[in-house]
Order: sequence, then C-alpha cells, then structure tokens
Amino acid sequence: MSVTLEPPLTRSGVTLAGRAIDWGTPLTTGPRYVRTPNGTRWHRPRSGVHRNGGNSYSLWCGQHARHESLLTTDQLPAGEPLCGTCEGRAIGAGQDTWPGTANPLVFSPMRLTPPKRCPGSRTTWCEELSWNVGRCLACGAVTPMRASGGPYNPRWGLTNHPPGPTLVPGCPFHAWRELGVVDGRVRCLCKLGEATA
Ligand SMILES: [Zn+2]
Ligand SMILES: [Zn+2]
Ligand SMILES: [Zn+2]
Repeated sequence: MSVTLEPPLTRSGVTLAGRAIDWGTPLTTGPRYVRTPNGTRWHRPRSGVHRNGGNSYSLWCGQHARHESLLTTDQLPAGEPLCGTCEGRAIGAGQDTWPGTANPLVFSPMRLTPPKRCPGSRTTWCEELSWNVGRCLACGAVTPMRASGGPYNPRWGLTNHPPGPTLVPGCPFHAWRELGVVDGRVRCLCKLGEATA
C-alpha cells in the first residue's frame, strides 16, 4: 500500500540564472519506504516528482533520493534500520500510523570522534628531537620530519601520522579543525581569549 505525499513545495524561484527550470510533475502517492543501494537505513518520502523518465523523492529528513539509484518497498525487511528523523516526522505529520515496528530507529549526530590522521600532520607543530625526528605537539607521537611546500615556501615539518598517546582534547565547538599553537601548546584557536587572560 502506498502513502500520500506532500506537495513538493520549494522556496526557489521559477528560473535559474534567467532560464526556465524543468519542475517535472508532482506525485501524489509514493512508496512507504525508499533507500539507496549503498544506504544504511530506510527513509520515508515526503514528496516526489516525475522527471527525466523516473520518480525521485524528497525525504522527511531533508535528503533526496534520485530515481537512477533507488530501492522502494511498502513492506520492511525484518531487522533493517530505519531513519529516525524520517520516521518521527512522517508519523508526526500524519502520513502513516506508527507501525510499532521491531526495526531499529537510527540517527547519527556529529560527535567528537578523534580523526584518523593527526591534525599535527604536515605542520611545524613539533619539538625537534633530532635532525629528522620530532615530537608532535598535538598528540605526542614521535614522528619523522621532512621538507614540504614549494621552493619559495619550504617547510620542515611532521609527516602524516595517526594520533599519538596524548592527542589534545577535541573542542566541543570545532573538534580538531581549528587548532593552532599558542604559547607553545596546541589548542583550539577559539580559546585564544583564555590563553592570554
Ligand atoms: Zn531519512
Ligand atoms: Zn600528532
Ligand atoms: Zn574551538
């Protein structure tokens, strides 16, 4: 059994750089669940259009599923995970009744997961131990050093390495993306005010 879809409302204008857009034909009904072949969970379609020879869907969680790569079903395979955002919004909006499914609901928020490559890689944030070995100030790893950069901007720095034993804690706002050296220590640059206080 298919479900009723919402209209594919958009805030976009009717043209793009002065040219008409092919909006396609809105779909009024669609499959209960859709997934991409490589996807890890089933989503629920919020709206859909028929365009370029196929039905594509906008999902309740904000993603899009194009008809070129799309699996659809009305009967969930047992045990396969569902997108928690889609499930909550679709049920909340009245598109379907809560099936009380045994399928697990999943949502993966951004978390402070340490990077696989130390943020000190290819930087000069190090204490030189010998002519080609340094200790990374971001993680404590003893790491080979080598020249990088171009002939006009040569740099002698750390090579790529996984985080060592004393990786600086991730900033709750910027994780490990905005680090710099302040007073000889690696820290998130949003802490500059504290460092000079
Ligand atoms: Zn979803
Ligand atoms: Zn490091
Ligand atoms: Zn920060």
